Amino acid sequence: MGPKTAIVQAGLTINGRRLNEIPKPLPQLSESEIERKLCISRVMTHTLGYLTGRLLDNKFEWLLPVMFSRSTDPLWPDPGASIEKRIEVEIYGKTVRTTLSMIIHKMVACSLAFEKLFILSPNARIERRDRADSGIHAYEFTQLDFEMRGASSKTVRSLVEGLISGLIKSLRDALRHELIHLGRFGSLIVPETPFRVYDRKELETRFGENYESKLLVKIHEPVWITNIPREFYDFEDLDRDIWDNYDLLLPQYGEVLSGARREWEYNKIFGKMKRDEVAAENYEELLKLAGERRLKPSAGAGIGVERLVSWLAGAKHIGEVQTFPRIPGAVYDL
Ligand code: AMP
Ligand code: MG
Repeated sequence: MGPKTAIVQAGLTINGRRLNEIPKPLPQLSESEIERKLCISRVMTHTLGYLTGRLLDNKFEWLLPVMFSRSTDPLWPDPGASIEKRIEVEIYGKTVRTTLSMIIHKMVACSLAFEKLFILSPNARIERRDRADSGIHAYEFTQLDFEMRGASSKTVRSLVEGLISGLIKSLRDALRHELIHLGRFGSLIVPETPFRVYDRKELETRFGENYESKLLVKIHEPVWITNIPREFYDFEDLDRDIWDNYDLLLPQYGEVLSGARREWEYNKIFGKMKRDEVAAENYEELLKLAGERRLKPSAGAGIGVERLVSWLAGAKHIGEVQTFPRIPGAVYDL
């Protein structure tokens, strides 16, 4: 028996915190637990089919992901990030990083080739182990990442609102039995659109620095938060001190999507990298393209697929949504 199996069975604690709901690995599930896993998996299958189908209907190009690159998301500065370790390996004499997100690839692909694109992209983020019992963090997960050339933030937000409300309607029609089994049929209602939009500055004034957790317990439908200071690639109006970006928050579960209109001008991108102490040498190609004015304005977002399905299915922990749970600090054999 490995050490992590012991943690699950004994209900022990890590760093003094109790791990009540840490999901077990697949081979240890009982028949009824497998039945629940199957219901959640049907919600996942339906969600993937629905979202990719709607994007294809809207003439998005479907790209396959990459796993190793010289450039990946810095995840810095981001108030929500908590990476314990960054994975860098050498291949063919070059240092590459495992994908933290495909934002850089999306910006380049959208600028040079594909006006509208999406990717189901695996992200490897070695989250701090105290995030094991947040219930919403995994150390590997998938983003449904999409980008649209020349789009506004509003266009992206309307698209997402249509996707989410359409998905819920379709789930209620197609998976009534599964949602009842999961105890979610009564509570998963089709949200009204447009979703409410909050400005981060107003939330800070109202709730203080921890505005997100305070808002989460008050809302009953998904809501947007805009104007969040973070990575260099989100568009920032430096004169007005406003960021043209957005997060989508789900009741209780938290942030399910981050997105923005993007920067495309060399001086701004390079200046922001310097300001934020992001290593410009890790973004040579992006900077070269920006310098040559080949980077184009775009907007997009990344949806955390497992988080979205956690909320839809009413999962107790994000690991329940993964066939092979990737829980921070708990490395199973499979
Ligand atoms: P980010 O690039 O950090 O904004 O992440 C984009 C989306 O991926 C978030 O809105 C979440 O839905 C999801 N996500 C981020 N980190 C994790 C994680 N550790 N486990 C599961 N989903 C995550
Ligand atoms: Mg985010």
